[in-house]
Amino acid sequence: MTTLLVPALDIQKIREEFPILNQQVNGKPLIYFDNAATNQKPKRVIDALSTYYEKYNANIHRGIHTLAEKATRAYEDTRLAMQEFIHAKHVEEIIFTRGVTESVNLVASSYGRAFLKEGDEIILSGLEHHSNIVPWQMIAEEKKAVIKVITITSSGEIDIDHYRQLLSSRTKIVAVNHASNSLGTINPIKEMITMAHEVGAVVLIDGAQASAHLAIDVIDLGCDFYCISSHKMYGPTGTGILYGKKELLEKMPPYMGGGEMIKDVTFARTTYNELPYKFEAGTPNIADVVALKEAVGFINQLGKENIASHEYELLSYATQKLASLSSVRMIGTASKKVSVQSFVIEGIHPFDIGQMLDARGIAVRTGHHCTQPLMDSLGLEGTVRASFAVYNTKEEIDVLIDGLKRIIKFLN
Ligand code: PMP
Repeated sequence: MTTLLVPALDIQKIREEFPILNQQVNGKPLIYFDNAATNQKPKRVIDALSTYYEKYNANIHRGIHTLAEKATRAYEDTRLAMQEFIHAKHVEEIIFTRGVTESVNLVASSYGRAFLKEGDEIILSGLEHHSNIVPWQMIAEEKKAVIKVITITSSGEIDIDHYRQLLSSRTKIVAVNHASNSLGTINPIKEMITMAHEVGAVVLIDGAQASAHLAIDVIDLGCDFYCISSHKMYGPTGTGILYGKKELLEKMPPYMGGGEMIKDVTFARTTYNELPYKFEAGTPNIADVVALKEAVGFINQLGKENIASHEYELLSYATQKLASLSSVRMIGTASKKVSVQSFVIEGIHPFDIGQMLDARGIAVRTGHHCTQPLMDSLGLEGTVRASFAVYNTKEEIDVLIDGLKRIIKFLN
């Protein structure tokens, strides 16, 4: 991670772009450290939503009137922006979905149903979010395929030797996250993709926690599928993308049937639309897709490297301060991490810590973070998770540390 050579961001100025941050919660200034669950939206994203509804709300693609054309252009402009954002070769490789959950379900259901056979193997890692576990379990059950799980080291990293042992000619799909939402670990996905391709498997990357923090170049990575959530990259909820290699998407059957995804319908036979529309049945989430372009613009304007550099500083600062509290145990100490720090405090339930911090206006997440198998493997019920975004500051971390010190003192 580059910490030098990048210009420092004006964080106070950036904060002014986020109206939600300027409020009191429980009588205290809001400190929002739940960014791994969803991050806040800059004004340009919020404005894009209201402008769409105030000025050019219309259904897309089929209309020939002015508003329909304007809405269609705005929707397709976001597709172009996302193509550039992840460096995809073809614009039709970008499919709009509701987010990562739907993207993984789409691939598991469509690719899995068409190509998996009895005894085929799907490899997942022990770090996965339920969204990248359950869809594979559902299709594995249907096709009598087998799920294999890569073990995780004590620092929260993927055990590459175990992964190598699991790979074989039976492996048909590898599905792993780029970065863990619970521990922050950045996984060595480029190496993992190369290894999977050597045995002929396709690879899906869950990029939910990566898109706002890490550079994504799907051509360089060579992944077959890459999933992104808008709401974790300063965009609206309820949308995101599935990237898929064109040659694979072309071979895959539609996921949902309905309007938009068809060329011709008769009661005898239906022919399907071309990419990407084959996978976008029904009226999509036009407003949120349109506003997603502004989230991309926001990230590009600041520069992902600058964002990552600031977040890295916050993470290092928080890690060092948390580690200095004697009863805090850090969970997830990988050498490469996005700005997520999980921890537990001996003798205090994470839920109680979350509630007591909320009373001080501090929003953190507590629980299993939709990674129950990971928590089981760590022997934990859950953790407290503080996750940072570009608008957070070291002063806010000081308030968190002070709050934790008081909680520890109060309960001991
Ligand atoms: N994977 C990871 C790693 C996540 O953090 C999340 C969201 N918490 C998801 C998948 C699900 O994404 P979405 O909310 O877009 O369905």
